Amino acid sequence: MKEDIKIKKKKYNDTYYNKNKDRVLEKLKVKIYCKYCDKNINKSSYTRHCNSNMHSKNKSKNWDLDLPADNS
Ligand SMILES: [Zn+2]
Repeated sequence: MKEDIKIKKKKYNDTYYNKNKDRVLEKLKVKIYCKYCDKNINKSSYTRHCNSNMHSKNKSKNWDLDLPADNS
């Protein structure tokens, strides 16, 4: 009985993946621009990038990018 639910669940997940494969893959390809590093980062690894040493180094180096643009 328990196995049955597991199989059903797996089947459901497979169907979901196949149905949304293109969308899921498209999402993975999305890049986010990091202004501190002047780099395009994969959306899927952006969180990891923000936690990286290189990023925090660049962020402290380019802290002025955080200042609001002077429109006066
Ligand atoms: Zn960065």
